Parts: sequence; structure tokens; C-alpha cells
Amino acid sequence: MREKTLMPLEIYVHIPFCIRKCDYCDFLSGPGDRTRQEAYIKALLHEIRSLPHIPNHEVVSLFFGGGTPSLLDACLIEEIISNLKEKFLFSPEAEISLEANPGTLMKEKLKVYRKAGVNRLSIGLQSADNEELNALGRIHTFEEFLEGYFLAREEGFFNINVDLMCAIPGQSYEGWIRNLRTAAELKPEHISAYSLIIEEGTPFAQRKLELPDEDTEYRMYEDTEKVLREYGFHQYEISNYAKNGFECLHNLGYWKRTEYLGLGLGAASLLAGMRFSNTRDMEEYLACSRNAEQIRKDVQLLTKREEMEEFMFLGLRMTKGIREGDFMACFGVSLRERYGAVLDKYRKTGFMEYEDGYWRFTRKGIHVSNVILAEFLAE
Ligand code: SF4
Repeated sequence: MREKTLMPLEIYVHIPFCIRKCDYCDFLSGPGDRTRQEAYIKALLHEIRSLPHIPNHEVVSLFFGGGTPSLLDACLIEEIISNLKEKFLFSPEAEISLEANPGTLMKEKLKVYRKAGVNRLSIGLQSADNEELNALGRIHTFEEFLEGYFLAREEGFFNINVDLMCAIPGQSYEGWIRNLRTAAELKPEHISAYSLIIEEGTPFAQRKLELPDEDTEYRMYEDTEKVLREYGFHQYEISNYAKNGFECLHNLGYWKRTEYLGLGLGAASLLAGMRFSNTRDMEEYLACSRNAEQIRKDVQLLTKREEMEEFMFLGLRMTKGIREGDFMACFGVSLRERYGAVLDKYRKTGFMEYEDGYWRFTRKGIHVSNVILAEFLAE
């Protein structure tokens, strides 16, 4: 019999392997041969099997991110899922997502994913223009993306996200809109559209790049929402757009501060009011993954103030905004009492609005959201 008052739990599994590093990427990922991949999965299974019991929780979403999880043999993904299902109670409606890159999706793999319970794919397209893909250092072409996308449809994946990137070196406003329309016409259920960020330590940070100017980037962002609305998508977060009912549950949980457990190299967790991350050192992870005490780093028990800040910082990313009543229920303090000065200031200037119990950014507020969020942290 199922327990009655179960708390939702999200699980993130990090797969840190890619065929080759893209020129803009600073994620914890890199090439790894088959022997290395197998050793890593073995260590990951040790970590899963030695996890302490987390009572009264039900897994509502599982997300394989990376890296390129679709690079692995599909049977390894199947083995991870079955080990997790032995350890945790899964909701029958749990969303199980896997990040995939074009060029790594084959029919047999997709069949195994389906059988293992994967019900959502997130495919990294980034651009529908081969020159732009080449400029980003991606390993695939648009045609290879199409091949994987249609194979996934044939194999019964009816919840697919396509990742796109704007403000790519050399990209014009028209080029971006063309990419968006090309992707939307394929009728995926979800599109994530991020601006390129030049991260320190990446090959892009060493080069002189011809990036779109600020005004062009502003127009790219503004018109993304308008164009995608024509195709039946609604924006539900700063960079995410979905058809009705296909919002990513895993992401929503993250912005609402649902508890989550990160497994694998460098994976972060939020559990029982604590934040911690696994070691980013592969050798240490391979040697010690059975010992949670040893691989968990930066363990931080959040103060009430930090929890409130996170509530604002993460919750305001959602276009729906944050509900006053939820803040009160979480912290026993009214939102106005805690942050009234900042909220009023930005409501008066038209950057924030209040409606039906929800506070949110206006369209013009989204563009300066980082500045406003910093004020909530300073309060
Ligand atoms: S495929 Fe993704 S994770 Fe891998 S290097 Fe490229 S951007 Fe980074």
C-alpha cells in the first residue's frame, strides 16, 4: 500500500562524457573512452546502492544530464534506472528525462530508453545552421539532428525538448528567427532558448568573437516569445517555452525548491535544508563513491534568510511568479513584511507586477532581472 503523505523528490544523474568539448562549454564534461565510461557507471552504481534511505519521499522526476548521457550504451542507462527504482519509490507519473546530442541517437538505443521508462528527451540542437554549429565547435550537423529527432518520434517519444542558442558569433537577428521557426515547425513539445554566455577558461574566452550587439540581442530575446507563441508555445520561465501540459517538471521543481538529490561527479543536492555537491575530482569519485561522507563537499545548512533568498531568486525565474501565500506557508512571515520595500520600488517603476496573489517580473523587468534579484539578496 502506498504511503499517504509522501514528499516529492527529484533526482539528477550526471554523465560527464562528451565526444568532444564544444568551444563555449564550461560544464563538467569531457571525452572518455569506453573503459572510463564503464568505470564511472560502476562507481555511480556504488553511490546509488550505498545511499542512506530517504524516508517518506516519492521520486517525481529523474533527469540524466551532462555531458552527453546518450553517448553511453543504452543498457547502462537501463541499469541505472533499475537500481534507482530498487532504492526509491517512484511516482507512476514520474518524468524521466535524458539529454541527448545529435549523432548519438540510434534506433536500438531509443528502444532501450523507452523500455527503461525514459519518457522525455532533451536534444541539444543549438542552431539549425551548419555554419553556426561549426562556429560553436559542435560535432553534428542539422541533418543529423533531424535524423535523431524523427527516429525518436518513430520510437514513441512524444515529449521532446529542443535546445537552441542565440547570440552566437556571426548570427544576425534574421538568422536567429529563422532557427526558431525551423525548430518550431518540427512541432517539439518544448523549446529551451538560451543566450550564449562567454565563460572564462573556454576557447571562446580566448578569441575575439563577432557577437551580436546589445540591441540585437534584446530584440532576439523579445521576439522569441512572440514567434514561439505563433506555434502554440507559452513562455513559463526566462528561457523556457512549452506547449500546454509539457512544461519540464524537473525544472519546475528546481525553481520551486523541491528537494533534489544529485548523483555522480559534481552533482548538487538540496536535501533536508542542506545544499551540498559531490566532488568534481574524477579520481576521488571513482575511488570513494560508496562513501557519501567523503564525496559530498561544500555541505551547507541553509539559514532561514538564505532559504528566503533562494525562494525569491529561483521562484521569480518563472513567468507565473511567486505566490504570496506560499512564502507565508514556508516561512511564517509575510512576503511584504520581508521584501515590501524592493517589491514596491520595482512595481512603481514598472519592472514588477502583482496580480491575483502572485508577484512577477513584467516583460521589461525580465531584461534587468539580474539587477533586481541582486537587491533581494542584499535586503
Ligand atoms: S555537448 Fe554539451 S556538455 Fe558536451 S561539450 Fe558540448 S555543450 Fe558541453
